[in-house]
Amino acid sequence: MAKVRVRFAPSPTGPLHIGGLRTALYNFLFARKHDGTFILRIEDTDQQRYVDGAEEYIKEALLWSGLQPDEGPDQGGQYGPYRQSERKNIYQKHVSMLIDLGHAYYAFDTPEELDTMRKSEIERGNHIPKYDHRVRMEMKNALTLDQATVSRLLKEGVPYTVRMKVPEDKVVTFKDRIRESVSFESSELDDKVILKADGLPTYHLANVVDDHLMNITHVIRGEEWLSSTAHHVLLYEGFGWEETMPEFAHLPLILKPGGSGKLSKRDGQKFGFPVFPLEWMPENNSESFEGFRSAGFYAPAVINFLAMLGWNPGTEQEIFSMDELIESFDLSQVSKSGARFDFDKALWFNAQYLQGLTADQLYSLASHYFEENGYHTSTDKMKRICELFRERVQTVKQIPAAASFFFEEVSTFEEKTVRKKWKEELRAPYSKISEIIETLHPFQSDHIKTRVNDYIKAQQLKFGNVLPLIRLAISGTAGGPDLFEVLEVMGQSTAVARLKNGPQHFDRISVDAGTHTS
Ligand code: GLU
Repeated sequence: MAKVRVRFAPSPTGPLHIGGLRTALYNFLFARKHDGTFILRIEDTDQQRYVDGAEEYIKEALLWSGLQPDEGPDQGGQYGPYRQSERKNIYQKHVSMLIDLGHAYYAFDTPEELDTMRKSEIERGNHIPKYDHRVRMEMKNALTLDQATVSRLLKEGVPYTVRMKVPEDKVVTFKDRIRESVSFESSELDDKVILKADGLPTYHLANVVDDHLMNITHVIRGEEWLSSTAHHVLLYEGFGWEETMPEFAHLPLILKPGGSGKLSKRDGQKFGFPVFPLEWMPENNSESFEGFRSAGFYAPAVINFLAMLGWNPGTEQEIFSMDELIESFDLSQVSKSGARFDFDKALWFNAQYLQGLTADQLYSLASHYFEENGYHTSTDKMKRICELFRERVQTVKQIPAAASFFFEEVSTFEEKTVRKKWKEELRAPYSKISEIIETLHPFQSDHIKTRVNDYIKAQQLKFGNVLPLIRLAISGTAGGPDLFEVLEVMGQSTAVARLKNGPQHFDRISVDAGTHTS
């Protein structure tokens, strides 16, 4: 097999959504697995859909995800330029070649003439009118005009496009790694525009020419491009490049989380599927939502989650490092049917990865969110807090909220639990425990635990009656990470002050309850 060369070829028309990132990932894994080359090519020939900043966004998303291209606009390489807008003359040269070979032709039809054609086709009963073999001989193009007229129109600068001349009766067949053999009837295909009036190529031409010139061996892309592939195959044939035509692999659609249907852009907005937030996208101001990175996801977890969205390792294993993915990834295990996007599963993956992170890693991911909440304390304390909550959150972004009682006075208490637990006979033991805590030295979790537990045992009290009150006083809730560690990290003076105030809050809550019930 020739040395594997694959490309991720996004159009900079917006942010990178999760489907695009999955395409990039599968290309990357395939390249790494086969010691091949992973190329980034920016397909920016559609001026109307071009969005400023999108290319940077895409590159940053790839970097964040660990999918660094080997060749691309920033990396360079032997086959550049890697931005299609910089390859204009290459395409023009190839369009001329195709015209000379008789597989493309100039078309001078005005938008009004195209409209008239569509209307009259509909009147004739053709409800999906196309510029194709049925109508091409009735239109204003190089197939119907004589050579001298064509030359004159070109010379006069009359606007034109160039269209592919699709053969009439041909079955276009190609092999797809995921779907095996795929066929299209050429009679159903239109004479696609390959060069627009602005002198820029359309996606179809630029894509095929570049895949050929860049020696691409495998085209791995989303299923939405499957129907365009018939035109691409015809272009390869037209140019006489059949021998080196890449293999195709069309990845399954990503389906909505619930119900059916393809994941739409709106779903992406609703469920936060882009990689980064979209504040910078003016047209998206109406709906604010966050991307994976902003939602506090850990990139390797997102990658693992995405890898499983359409690919099945054939075993029960779910957690894969990038190296393991490279080792196990196989296009033949990619499914044909759509893969359902399940945001809870993404959270699950993330939570799994958090378990394996060191305090330093957790802190470096979470520090930004502490900052955002205005929470400041020593780095050491922050790291301990991150560790305390590691098993209780699904993303690091959730840590500051869960740990707010370390940074803010407790103002709300779980009232139901207070009413259930705060009993007159516990007043004395509660203040004794507060005293133990106040006089302990050193103030370390093991030490606190031993002294408090010894006292509870000696008094023949129940842990489940007393300890929740301590928790409630210091954090407002009866749940949370290990109480004694929480006390240590919180520090003796804060803990003592809160314990002192506890009974006053508990009494107030119990009295309120009394008035309600009376
Ligand atoms: N520019 C196309 C896109 O935006 C590339 C499709 C392909 O990979 O051929 O997805």
